[in-house]
Amino acid sequence: MSAVVDMMAARFGAKDGALAATTSVDTPLVEFRDVSKTYDGRSLAVAKMDCSVRRGEFLTFLGPSGSGKTTSLMMLAGFEAPTSGDILINGKSIVHTPPYRRNMGVVFQNYALFPHMTVAENIAFPLRARRQPRASIQGRVEHVLRLVRLAGRDDRRPTELSGGEQQRVALARALVFSPDVILMDEPLGALDRQLRERLQIEIKEIQRQLELTVIYVTHDQTEALAMSDQIAVFNNGAIQQRATPQTLYEEPCNAFVAQFIGENNSLNGVVSENDGMYCTVRTDGGRSMRGRLVGEARPGARVTVTVRPERIALWVAGDSNSNTFSARVREATYLGDHMRLRMRLDGDGDAIVKLPIATASSNLAVGQEMSLTFNADACRVFSGPKSAPRDTEKTTEP
Ligand code: ADP
Ligand code: MG
Repeated sequence: MSAVVDMMAARFGAKDGALAATTSVDTPLVEFRDVSKTYDGRSLAVAKMDCSVRRGEFLTFLGPSGSGKTTSLMMLAGFEAPTSGDILINGKSIVHTPPYRRNMGVVFQNYALFPHMTVAENIAFPLRARRQPRASIQGRVEHVLRLVRLAGRDDRRPTELSGGEQQRVALARALVFSPDVILMDEPLGALDRQLRERLQIEIKEIQRQLELTVIYVTHDQTEALAMSDQIAVFNNGAIQQRATPQTLYEEPCNAFVAQFIGENNSLNGVVSENDGMYCTVRTDGGRSMRGRLVGEARPGARVTVTVRPERIALWVAGDSNSNTFSARVREATYLGDHMRLRMRLDGDGDAIVKLPIATASSNLAVGQEMSLTFNADACRVFSGPKSAPRDTEKTTEP
């Protein structure tokens, strides 16, 4: 904890550290170029990362624990150095620029507020470090206190604040000196769900209002989908796909993204027929499924087939079109707006089905035999073995 405070103190020790903004509107504000990082000289924490961020954009680094999100953010902030590659701000390399001259506001999960200072003193700190005139400091502090809805709390000490309030102070301190970029690493990770959802909305509002450029790290896909303009999905130190929330959900580029964003059923099989756009797959359980091909897969290739739980419809067993399979209800859970069903597909594991409550028959019973069906357009076929866990439940950080 004190190491973090030292680090914060180091970065706020800036003297007019802003990097000159002398570039055209087309230049990305932030750019990672072929950046790799190894800590131990053997494995890559970040591998050949290319990523650019436009001014005013809210970009989220999303991925499982250990996928390289924090390392990427730390390299941008200047607390870690890339092993190779370049990082640019406004088109200029900053890899040799010390952290306090990069003009970035940083918010971490562990608050790292200065415990001996009041709220107002904490927030004023970056301005004092920049030797701003005393008169302007008070006005700025009051302004950001209102922005994060903490007006009137200026005399409190961090220990007298709730977790959510402490994070608001940390945000205010990151905003107060009008940095080029705000970096946030799991800033809401320690808060309970309701507070987290409220602060997600507030952070998003402030970002829009001030047209801030934010790079936000989370392992929580709901948070990422709710807040981001763009999401970069990380796995094994590499960005798998960078797109809008909707595109990631609707058009995942590989089986990892398909599994990691939202919920997905996933089966293994071998391509039996491929017409370029669609292909037919013989699953390990002997079923024949038709789906849209993503990437390349020749007949004989091993593939992963995915279909979203909400894209599956059910009816009483009997019919047999293509992509229609009989399955037995193993578990039926009432969730208010929908029924969540776990269906047994012998030889292909379980499939999760989400049924809107309005269409769910009230006599759905465990053990019942039903037909499930889905459109070939709702079904995706990805080459290669899938890299995410077979279980539809996602693993999350502790
Ligand atoms: P994330 O933030 O996505 O959880 P990290 O960037 O923290 O991932 O970690 C990426 C990889 O680098 C992991 O394998 C992790 O163990 C390793 N790593 C992170 N920080 C250090 C460090 N200071 N020293 C050695 N290895 C590290
Ligand atoms: Mg991390």
